[in-house]
Amino acid sequence: MKNFDVSVVTPDGVVVDEQYQMVIAHTKDGEIGVLAGHIPLVAPLVIGEVRLKKESGMEWLSVSGGFLEVRPDKVTVLAQTAEKAETIDLARAQEAKRRAEAMLAAQEAKMDDHRAQTALHRAMNRIKVAGHRQ
Ligand code: ATP
Repeated sequence: MKNFDVSVVTPDGVVVDEQYQMVIAHTKDGEIGVLAGHIPLVAPLVIGEVRLKKESGMEWLSVSGGFLEVRPDKVTVLAQTAEKAETIDLARAQEAKRRAEAMLAAQEAKMDDHRAQTALHRAMNRIKVAGHRQ
């Protein structure tokens, strides 16, 4: 399989800048797999995992929304937050999940439901991705 450049960038800096054979990401319209030579596109991403395939195996990242940009020479994931599976603090994600669940359970929290749901989604995604450390 042919390699191509992939960057994963957040406001805090570059998380990944290497060559891969395939990028799999979750767009608002569903999962997309990008190989070398894919048609150019820009697609909004949802909270989910991004999988990067190399000859040596699959690398997992958690991202919390952003954009996937496919250009003829390069694929870029521009995300609000992105963590490699190896850098995820599992205890922190579990604590964030517990906090979000407590907020959702509290009667007076109804106005903040969307925020808590999103925080819960981010935490659950990080916990899932942390399960794929190499
Ligand atoms: P928390 O309540 O634990 O801060 P959060 O979902 O509110 O979680 P974010 O606002 O999405 O956190 O992220 C803030 C910063 O912290 C980002 O740089 C993100 O990559 C990092 N981050 C958040 N949670 C984790 C985690 N469990 N492990 C590693 N980095 C994390």
